[in-house]
Amino acid sequence: MVGNAYFNNLIMTVINASESSEWREAVDEWEIYDCEEDEDCSAKCICGKENIRYLYTIRNIYNGELLFPIGSSCINKFGRKDLNDETGLIEEQFRLLHAVESNKYLSLSADFFSRKLLRWLFDEGAFDTSYNQFDGEDDYEFMLKMFNKRDKDAITIRQDRKIKAIIMNSIKPFLQERLEEKIR
Ligand SMILES: [Zn+2]
Repeated sequence: MVGNAYFNNLIMTVINASESSEWREAVDEWEIYDCEEDEDCSAKCICGKENIRYLYTIRNIYNGELLFPIGSSCINKFGRKDLNDETGLIEEQFRLLHAVESNKYLSLSADFFSRKLLRWLFDEGAFDTSYNQFDGEDDYEFMLKMFNKRDKDAITIRQDRKIKAIIMNSIKPFLQERLEEKIR
């Protein structure tokens, strides 16, 4: 199938499940409802494209219809920045979890962290643990400050130890609890 046929499939499927019959209006009717990761990339998007890794469910906010699975490159075709930001953030969560689980990367590298991701972790309570009496604000501020340091070599051994402790004791268990059942 050529690229265009996938796009036509997407348009038809979305419009059939939407209130509007105009693509440009229909795209505004949808929100991201869930996302699972298929590590084997064996699933097929609603557009027909195979081997997608992140399987999104989108939900029509007017009629409750669900579409599944849809890949982020098709969600991208909706042309909505809010949805694109959301898929970016969700995929960052999965990538970070895999990195910390393999113990491969335990620093605040921009490969796995972003300001937006740190903020999301804070808002969702990931930094609240028994170590800080369930008030994670100081840990969040610390992580943000370290992340924002342009010169990472200026991070002291002590600070680096604290970064690793927060990743292992707060972020890792939080992501595991959130995402583990969403990974197949
Ligand atoms: Zn697709």
